[in-house]
Amino acid sequence: QPKKQDVMIDVHELLRKFYHHLLVNTKQGQEALEYLYQRGFTDDTIEEFQIGYAPGGWDKSLKFLTGRGYEEPLLTQLGLIIRREDGTYFDRFRDRIMFPIYNDKGNTVAFSGRMFKEGEPKYLNSPETVLFQKSQLLYNFHRSRPSIRKKQTAVLFEGFADCISAYRAGVTNGVATMGTALTDNHIQLLKRNAERIVLCFDSDDAGKEAVLKAGEMIQRAGLTVEVALVPDGKDPDEYIRKHGPEKFMHEVIDGRQTFMAFKMEKFRIGKNLEIEGERLAYIEKVLTEISLLQSPIEKEMYLRRLADEFALSFDSLKQQERQISYQMK
Ligand code: ATP
Ligand code: MN
Ligand code: MN
Ligand code: MN
Repeated sequence: QPKKQDVMIDVHELLRKFYHHLLVNTKQGQEALEYLYQRGFTDDTIEEFQIGYAPGGWDKSLKFLTGRGYEEPLLTQLGLIIRREDGTYFDRFRDRIMFPIYNDKGNTVAFSGRMFKEGEPKYLNSPETVLFQKSQLLYNFHRSRPSIRKKQTAVLFEGFADCISAYRAGVTNGVATMGTALTDNHIQLLKRNAERIVLCFDSDDAGKEAVLKAGEMIQRAGLTVEVALVPDGKDPDEYIRKHGPEKFMHEVIDGRQTFMAFKMEKFRIGKNLEIEGERLAYIEKVLTEISLLQSPIEKEMYLRRLADEFALSFDSLKQQERQISYQMK
């Protein structure tokens, strides 16, 4: 008798093929396919990422799966169908574009379905199951791991749509969280394969706050953090669609900055450094950040930068940085 988890994976693999077939080969999937084309998805991308279409109606997936011998209790446990009060069942995913979510072995373990007409929510995910834990899983990790190892660098996105677009643009070492905040589990997973993480989040205020938070966590775990910010409030996918893959690789990915430089820029916002008090507060803030850095070389680099910029002596800055480090212990 096969193990229960293997059966659970079989269900997802079967459903992935079913949804993909409906998207690319049938009239039912035509509107969804047109939506994807209009968003710049190519046939290659749809194939590579096995994007699909979950049919409308209430029980198409249910009928398909029970017809293949899978029973309602198992399908309910996986969150693929939902039980009504009266004991009947209906499909969780209806009339949505389906993105399979793979575990690190490349097995399909969950789905995320995007609405492409009117309606809420925009994305609907499988619930947490024994196969799928959002706090452990990174989208695209099974595909990007060899490239992450080779480059010793992972690029982290907020949305998996960004991850897919960037992959097409040439970012083969990209991963994304599944709509949750980054966890220490995610970081440990990446740390086993890379020494550097590039944060390429949405460039709205929420995205920038998320960069600060994620950056601190990653830095504390002993990894190097860099920030690749998309200009003008867009997300990476929108940027690629508007400016093309070459410009994205060149301006955003190659133009990335260190986490420290990102923070220094952020602290400047709304401050008038001509005013002595504000200047001192800024320098103090930056020194606090410098004291958090792991690498002595990095510390020295930013101390020098501060010294040059404000015409201060390196030694006095260094001394103050030591004091701050000492107080924080
Ligand atoms: P798209 O380009 O298709 O609109 P996106 O990646 O830009 O997608 P965001 O709104 O930036 O979407 O959200 C980033 C991530 O947050 C998504 O990839 C998804 O995992 C998650 N997310 C967004 N909206 C929802 C929602 N309503 N329910 C659950 N998860 C969501
Ligand atoms: Mn966003
Ligand atoms: Mn986005
Ligand atoms: Mn987007």
